[in-house]
Amino acid sequence: MRAPETADPAPAAIEVRSLRKAYGEVEAVRGIDLRVARGEVFALLGPNGAGKTTTVEILEGHRQRSGGDASVLGHDPGRNERALRQRVGIVLQQTGVDGYLTVREVVQMVAGYYPHPRDTDEVLALTGLSDQANRRVRKLSGGQKRRVDLAVALAGDPELLFLDEPTTGFDPSARRQAWETVRGLAALGKTVFLTTHFMDEAQALADRLAIIADGRIVATGTPDELIGSGSAATRIRFRLPPSVEAPERFGAHRVASAWELETDTPTQSLHDLTAWSLETATELADLEVTRPSLEDVYLQLTAEEAAE
Ligand code: ATP
Repeated sequence: MRAPETADPAPAAIEVRSLRKAYGEVEAVRGIDLRVARGEVFALLGPNGAGKTTTVEILEGHRQRSGGDASVLGHDPGRNERALRQRVGIVLQQTGVDGYLTVREVVQMVAGYYPHPRDTDEVLALTGLSDQANRRVRKLSGGQKRRVDLAVALAGDPELLFLDEPTTGFDPSARRQAWETVRGLAALGKTVFLTTHFMDEAQALADRLAIIADGRIVATGTPDELIGSGSAATRIRFRLPPSVEAPERFGAHRVASAWELETDTPTQSLHDLTAWSLETATELADLEVTRPSLEDVYLQLTAEEAAE
């Protein structure tokens, strides 16, 4: 059977054009464009006050935009329609669930509001809460409570999930678990839109990301594309015996007890360096080659925006 003429083969989960938001004199969002494909994990990164929460809250239907277009699962989020709310899960930076209920009761209660909820045991397993199912929420640790927030957002089996700084306040192992949960959601085909301050989180989770600074998108792409597009250089680091200086032509400088150089042509630099090392029988101890990280690119882009 042929698909109807009007069917779009790959409609976006989120599409935003020239989105603007002003709070009086403050222009928090200054005309941004975004497209998030269905099934994608998308991260919005940016410094404090860049406009992340404003953008997310407009998409969630919690704030009205001042201008531009926004479409979330084919709906205008500004109209706050029930049909859209039922298909979206939201984890806010801070939420309060009734602490006297057990974890299972909370998830079951929320599931009752939705037409096609996900099985409660599955939600608990997905969020790593199976062992806490019968404990009262108020007795949980801060990190475990955040997982309950996530379980609440998943109870209605949403197609699209908004996560605003999902791992702030987590210890390293809780962060890793939360990452696994997000990957599990991606594997289920959910679309995830997250905001974060953590570059490693964006690098580990996001299929694509956008960096926002001062209300404008300054870069967008896959983590690898962004790392490749920046002018941040590859870093080569090594140690030499105390009596030996690195030849000047390498442009290396001392950093603590090591030598470091930055290069846009790492193959050539390594070739020159190792040739010198072999010729002079000087060992390059602890030799390390580091690609620029997303953090290097982010700091460079947000600094450029601030300078403008
Ligand atoms: P953070 O990382 O600190 O959460 P953010 O990127 O989420 O920051 P927003 O909260 O969207 O940033 O704020 C963007 C700008 O809009 C800031 O200058 C902020 O002071 C301003 N702003 C946000 N909410 C309001 C409001 N309700 N009234 C007036 N100004 C606001």
